[in-house]
Amino acid sequence: MKNADQENIVIVVHGGAWNIPESLLESTRTGVEAAVREGWQVLIAGGSALDAVEAAVNHMEDNPLFDAGIGAALTRDGDVELDAIIMDGKTLSAGAVAGITHIQNPVSLARKVMEKTSHVMLIADGALKFAKEIGFPLVKKETLITDEALLEWKRFHSFNHTIDELFSHDTVGAVALDKEGNIAAATSTGGITAKMPGRVGDSPIIGSGAYADNKIGGASATGHGESIMKVTLTRHAVYLLEQGLSAQKAAENSLHYMFQRVHGFGGLILLDRVGNVGIHFTTTHMPWAYIKNGNLYSGV
Ligand code: ASP
Repeated sequence: MKNADQENIVIVVHGGAWNIPESLLESTRTGVEAAVREGWQVLIAGGSALDAVEAAVNHMEDNPLFDAGIGAALTRDGDVELDAIIMDGKTLSAGAVAGITHIQNPVSLARKVMEKTSHVMLIADGALKFAKEIGFPLVKKETLITDEALLEWKRFHSFNHTIDELFSHDTVGAVALDKEGNIAAATSTGGITAKMPGRVGDSPIIGSGAYADNKIGGASATGHGESIMKVTLTRHAVYLLEQGLSAQKAAENSLHYMFQRVHGFGGLILLDRVGNVGIHFTTTHMPWAYIKNGNLYSGV
């Protein structure tokens, strides 16, 4: 059901671009649909784009199926090191955290970095210290480690395979436009299985994992972090929007450019400043969902 208030608001989410096995296709799609509904509820209740992307990403961080919060991919040493970013297109403010553990909802801690500090990113022990100082809820590391993540980590060690498309990258992200015309973007991840301890991917890097500018649009990325950073994928996509490309074309061209230039694979969700949606991926799958005019669309 559509009403006048729903005309201009949109939210789009993704659940990570990678070669998802058949057995997970349906559940990951259901997972992104549930997350996009969560964000939509926030928007129709009058919440901001920032509130909506945070709620949608929190929902996927809490879902063990996705590589963010609970269910994060493990490092080479079997540890949890989470990265996240949130960006406000109204002021170009951003908050990010990297290499953190003991936090179930890293995107919410990233928002606190944006709102309560004069910095953009806090990492590892410093981020944890900040979390403690502001009374942010901490969890045991074990809470974040699922049997599936452990199994995948063991599989990596037994095959001693290089990190590539074989291993799960179900990073999550969201972009929203609220009724005031504000755009926000957010991304959260455990990174890639068996990453080196201390490795930070694209997800918490402004312009790589996410970007938002009310005057142009917003984007969240997923895929091979080292490739995404080299081409600053979300800033690249938003720049193409600024040059007059449609949201869909901007998503397609950006991923094409990343492949041409650095042979990287990934996925993008994009909104232009009036709420046109772009979704594209160069992996075999990427669960996505969006709600526009009160209608939900999804795919994988
Ligand atoms: N981009 C993430 C990273 O490299 C992984 C992903 O998108 O799934 O850390």
